[in-house]
Amino acid sequence: MSSFERMWADLAPVGRSASTGGYRRFAWTTTDATLREWFVGEAQGRGLDVVPDRAGNLWAWSGDPDADGPGLVVGSHLDSVPDGGAFDGPLGVVSAFAALDELRARGSAPRRPLGIACFADEEGARFGVACAGSRLLTGALDPDRARALTDDQGTTMAEALSSAGQDARALGRDDETLRRVGTFLELHVEQGRALVDAAAPVGVASSIWPHGRWRLDLRGRADHAGTTRLADRDDPMLALATAISGARASAERHGALATVGKLRVRPNGVNAIPSEVTAWLDARGPSEDDVRAVVAEVAAAAGTAAAEESWTASTDFDVPLRDRLAAVLGDGTGAPAPVLPTGAGHDAGILSAAGVPTAMLFVRNPTGVSHSPAEHAEPGDCLAGVAALARAIEALS
Ligand SMILES: [Zn+2]
Repeated sequence: MSSFERMWADLAPVGRSASTGGYRRFAWTTTDATLREWFVGEAQGRGLDVVPDRAGNLWAWSGDPDADGPGLVVGSHLDSVPDGGAFDGPLGVVSAFAALDELRARGSAPRRPLGIACFADEEGARFGVACAGSRLLTGALDPDRARALTDDQGTTMAEALSSAGQDARALGRDDETLRRVGTFLELHVEQGRALVDAAAPVGVASSIWPHGRWRLDLRGRADHAGTTRLADRDDPMLALATAISGARASAERHGALATVGKLRVRPNGVNAIPSEVTAWLDARGPSEDDVRAVVAEVAAAAGTAAAEESWTASTDFDVPLRDRLAAVLGDGTGAPAPVLPTGAGHDAGILSAAGVPTAMLFVRNPTGVSHSPAEHAEPGDCLAGVAALARAIEALS
């Protein structure tokens, strides 16, 4: 059994729902603690020094980036969306350890410090802000705002951090950690089918679309579903339904994507007209203007303001780095590896926006499905990803 297969088998049961087969690995829960312990154990088993940063992201170092200059860091995250797949995040972390194993087995020691990163709270499934760990690290998320974010139970991020043994007061931009990161490289399962079309197991990212999350609060009047005449109702669900249908049409007009995947209904009774509905809109597109136009149209249809919960501007990954990797990871006949954009946000995008030279590798996903238990990558493609990552580390260090 390869080290990749052994690590993959170790992680398979952690946070897996027996009813859906999907993963529920949310930030600062006991499941998250198990994953973080696993990461520390893998790192220590390889003689790496694990250094947490102020936001709770974990950095496992081979070599000393303080003494020997900024290092090359590879890695990803271990948390998931509700009922997410096994690959989004863990593939990058497991591949990072496996690539190090491959390099060591070949006697190929990196000449610069090599770090393996495990970012905290990437999906934002619990507190609503995606890439919270990397945003706190770079200062893109205000620490006071982060501490006050609440989950569905009303637990604040500050409380969740404390109960997970983290120091919530320490949150804030962490220059000491950032100084150690000379280059960041994140391997990730592809969330689309471009590599299927290109008939290639591994590709290189070009850019991330601008994207964000907005909250729509619609108010009406609770009443009896059996005794209130239609004409007498003030039902906010109707305006929301119109807004959601409109979001689809608006996204089509602007060449963008819009999704309402989360709702909160009060009082949430089958026989009660809602008094209040809250919907969360995820919108992404090729340009900021397109995304903003979609959000404005949806808010107008809902008859309410759209409260912005997060925003990430367009990210173009480092061009020389991208071209270098595409050349290094070519098919051997001189053709470079495919280069593709993505609509998904990643910690790599946050680091890139903060000025760290950053690149991403994608591993083929036969169905393109992600954020679902059906998310998949073939074992052979996963190993091709490990080999590509090892080649990339050699080329960059
Ligand atoms: Zn991810």
